[in-house]
Amino acid sequence: MRAVEIILAKRNGRTLDQSEIAFMVQGYTRGEIPDYQIAAWLMAICWRGMLAEETAALTLEMVRSGAHLNLAQATGLPFVGDKHSTGGVGDKTTLVVAPAVAAAGLPIGKMSGRGLGFSGGTIDKLEAIPGFKVSLSQGEFIRSVREVGLVVVAQSPDLAPADGKLYALRDVTGTVESLPLIASSIMSKKIAAGASGCVLDVKYGRGAFMKDLTAARALATTMVEIGRQVGLPVRAVLSGMEQPLGYAVGNGLEVQEAIATLRGGGPDDLWQVSRELGRELLLLAGLAAEAGAAEAMLDEARHSGAALAKLRAMVANQGGDVGYIDDPSRFPAAPVQQPLIASMGGYLVAVDAEALGHASVSLGAGRLVKGAEIDHRVGFVLHKKVGDWVAAGDPLLTIHAANEQAAAAVSPALQAAYQFGPEPVTPPPLSNGVIS
Ligand code: URA
Repeated sequence: MRAVEIILAKRNGRTLDQSEIAFMVQGYTRGEIPDYQIAAWLMAICWRGMLAEETAALTLEMVRSGAHLNLAQATGLPFVGDKHSTGGVGDKTTLVVAPAVAAAGLPIGKMSGRGLGFSGGTIDKLEAIPGFKVSLSQGEFIRSVREVGLVVVAQSPDLAPADGKLYALRDVTGTVESLPLIASSIMSKKIAAGASGCVLDVKYGRGAFMKDLTAARALATTMVEIGRQVGLPVRAVLSGMEQPLGYAVGNGLEVQEAIATLRGGGPDDLWQVSRELGRELLLLAGLAAEAGAAEAMLDEARHSGAALAKLRAMVANQGGDVGYIDDPSRFPAAPVQQPLIASMGGYLVAVDAEALGHASVSLGAGRLVKGAEIDHRVGFVLHKKVGDWVAAGDPLLTIHAANEQAAAAVSPALQAAYQFGPEPVTPPPLSNGVIS
C-alpha cells in the first residue's frame, strides 16, 4: 500500500476500507508517513467526509495506536466518569464541571486537549497554573483517580497517541472542522482512557466547529453510536456557542473565571452549562435518580466550597502552585489592557465568537504553527453579551495583549464582530437537549 494512493482515493470520494485507514493511522503514529501526506489526507477527509463505518474504523485504529485502560478495574472504583467538549470560544466548563462532579462523589479521570483552531483547550489553560504537570505516567494517572478523585492530563504517548499527533497537525492545517475527524479524535481518547461513562458537550453556533444544530446533532449521534458499539455509555448535551461562554477568553483569564465560578460567583451562563453537563454525568453514573437531585448535589458542591477544594486537590496532586487557586490575583496580567469602545449604540444582536477566537490566537493565546509557545496572559474579558443595551462609548471588552501593536492589530476584527440593532434581543439558548 502507498500513502499517496489512499490520499487520492479519498480525494476522489472513494470509501476507504479498514486496512487503508489502519495503514495511514499506524504509519503516521510510527513516524513512517510524513506530516505533509497526512495533512493532505486530512484535508481530503474534510472535503469528502466519511461514512459511519469509516469513522468507526478511524476511531478504533486511533485507539489501537496505544494502550487501552479500564479505569474502574484499575482503580477498584465502581464508576469513573469522563467529560469532553467538541470545543468552543471561552469554553472552560471542564474546570468547573469536573471538580463539581468529583466533589459530588463521582471520580473523574480525563484526557484533555490543547487549543484547536480558533478554540482554546483545557491543557493550555491548566498550564497557566505554574508547576501544573499535564503529563502523568499511567500508574500516576490511576493512583490519582483513586486517591484524589480528579485528574486531567494531556494526550499521552501511551493512550491514543495517533490522536495526539493528528490533533496537533489539524490545529495548524485548517483541518479541524470535519465530523469524522472530530468524532474519531474525541471518541478515541475517551475509549482509550477507559472511563465507565462519558458526557459530551457538543457545541453549535458561530464559536463552535459545528455551525448549526443539525450538524451538531449528527456529530452527537455519531459519537453516541461509536460509544454503543464499544460498550461505553455516552450522553451528549447540545449546547449553544453563538457567543463566547462566560466573559473570559484566553488561558489564564479563563482559569480565573472558572475559580470565581467555583467560589459561587462567575458568569451565570458558565454555571448553567456546567451544571447541565454535571447533571448528566451524575445521572449516567447512577449517583442521582433524577435531574433535580443531581442539580442539588452540584449546587451543594459549589456552595459548600467542596468543588473548589477538589480543584485545589487536583492542582496540588499534579504539582501546581495552589497559591494561584487561593489567590487568583497572582496570575500574571498582560502588559497591555485596552478597552474596545463601542462606536455606536443599540441592543447587542450578535458577537461573532469565531472572530474573537481567531483574534485571541493572533494575540498569542493559540498556535499558528505546531508546537509554538503560547502566552497564557493574553485574551479578552467581555463586558457585554447578546441582548445587553450598549451606549456609544461603552467598553465592549478589554483586550489583554503582550504589547500595544498586538492590541491595535486585532481591534478592527473585534469591532466587526459586534452587531447592534434598535430592538430588544433575546439571548440565544444555552442548550438544546440531550442525545443518548
Ligand atoms: N476535541 C477533540 O479532542 N478533538 C477534536 O477534534 C475537537 C475537539
